[in-house]
Amino acid sequence: MIQEVLYRLNVEDFERFNDVGGDVVHVSVLPLCPLKWFYRLKYPDLARAQQYSGYMILGKLVHFGLQRLLLELQEAGLLDFRVLGVEVDLEKTINIERNGLPAIIHVKGRADILAERDGEKLVVEIKSAKGDYGIPAQHHLEQLRIYMNLAGVSKGLLIYITPDRIAEYPVDKPLTDFELQKLVQEFFERKAPRYDWECSSYCPFNVLCPYKKTNSYRRWQ
Ligand code: SF4
Repeated sequence: MIQEVLYRLNVEDFERFNDVGGDVVHVSVLPLCPLKWFYRLKYPDLARAQQYSGYMILGKLVHFGLQRLLLELQEAGLLDFRVLGVEVDLEKTINIERNGLPAIIHVKGRADILAERDGEKLVVEIKSAKGDYGIPAQHHLEQLRIYMNLAGVSKGLLIYITPDRIAEYPVDKPLTDFELQKLVQEFFERKAPRYDWECSSYCPFNVLCPYKKTNSYRRWQ
């Protein structure tokens, strides 16, 4: 019965996230292969099947648990910083060129935590991973820097919760407006993938994508 609740919540979350028009892009997908976003809109069933991954739900529970824990510790006066909000909606409008014509794109995102320390606001991005190999990942740093731009703050903190270690990475360079516009422009030009590893089993669309970089080796006899 709990299993059912968790899967249902995850799928409902996915449906909300998927309910967008062609002029909206979410921060969480901007640093990744753009084709995945467009395939997601075209083949929602393939994307939906991925929502039944236990690993994905584990990540959500880590987010939820840490956010609630910090709010409770704050309530008890046990934090030396202030949590201003969790799951904070952020949005910015970006002008790009699409098919040779000017276009307006709405970049939307939800920061895990907005906090304040020593009178300065900062965005906290929570990541969970199976291990600490390759952290901090380039696309996670980029994602946090986008949130910092959208929130108009110059400080950020990327925190990893992994079985190997829990590590914090302070970030003090938000993406500039120019960098963000370039990123959105490239996203809509569908330059794919951004990283070769994205085409592995992480991508539910690699069963139909002609741009898949890492082919599987399989013997038929
Ligand atoms: S297979 Fe690779 S290029 Fe194709 S959508 Fe997936 S990540 Fe992008």
